[in-house]
Amino acid sequence: MFDESEVRGATLNYFNGDELATNVFMTKYCLRDKKGNFMEKTPADMHRRMAKEFARIEAQFETDHTGPVAGNTYAHRAGPHLSEDEIYSFLKDFKYIVPQGSPMMGIGNNHVNVSLSNCVVVDNPQDSVSSIMDAGKDLANLFKRRCGAGVDISNLLTHDKIALTLKLREISYGEEYKAVITCDSCEFDNHITFNVSKLDTVFFPEEFEHPIPVTLPTIKKDILLKLPRVADEDYLLSTESLGSNLWRFITEIDGHSDPIIISKVVEKLPLKDIHTIINTLGQAKYGIQTKVKFECQKCASFTITELPITSDFFTVS
Ligand SMILES: [Zn+2]
Repeated sequence: MFDESEVRGATLNYFNGDELATNVFMTKYCLRDKKGNFMEKTPADMHRRMAKEFARIEAQFETDHTGPVAGNTYAHRAGPHLSEDEIYSFLKDFKYIVPQGSPMMGIGNNHVNVSLSNCVVVDNPQDSVSSIMDAGKDLANLFKRRCGAGVDISNLLTHDKIALTLKLREISYGEEYKAVITCDSCEFDNHITFNVSKLDTVFFPEEFEHPIPVTLPTIKKDILLKLPRVADEDYLLSTESLGSNLWRFITEIDGHSDPIIISKVVEKLPLKDIHTIINTLGQAKYGIQTKVKFECQKCASFTITELPITSDFFTVS
């Protein structure tokens, strides 16, 4: 076990006074026990730990390589398998092999249960609540083991993306979320704690038809509308882009399904019919209700606002 100052001094020396490198090593890779005590003094100790673990596995394999491998300077081996010292010599001073972060932190580390892979891709969630929740659980478990994960959610309804985001936040950092919201009346900054697991959810009814049949009130024509998926989010960013992309969400208009005809019709639609389409696409009554109402601590007036999901949503609050 080493004191923090002892580790800092030795590691600074190892990196020739580079404070950034020293901080990164100390906060991310240096072995610690369950109580957070430093168990390594410099990256050399880390390389020794990894070499030891590699050698333990290596010893389980006998090979018939006994000399240099043609055309590969580094594949030379002196014995039936690589020894700890040989492996160490490749890692030492980050000379020949610079492992990724997860291996440096996790290999030979018996104090934590972490993934040794920096990044994985999990199955695309299907368009159902249970599949989405399963994906959320997979991701949270990976994050917990300091693994990055990629998941393709472009097929999900935007409603379900919100549900997935909130669930992830809940399992990874707890259900309480603190945010600062400015009062509409007096502009006072209110510090509010939300419970992300207690937001109301309105599920799409069993008999919900999709695409959604709608009769436009002014031109009295029937259309079919499909709800926006995550892949469509860019079209929803502003009123202008929604307006020029509205045709993408219409699968049929008065019996026509040709997108060229649809886009021509949409261009000439009266404003009232456009509003009907936009309101139907929003379907704000379904999904997790992210509109929250709060009373200002200063002036006691009520503000209704969207739950602010900002970059610090995925940090401990
Ligand atoms: Zn106020």
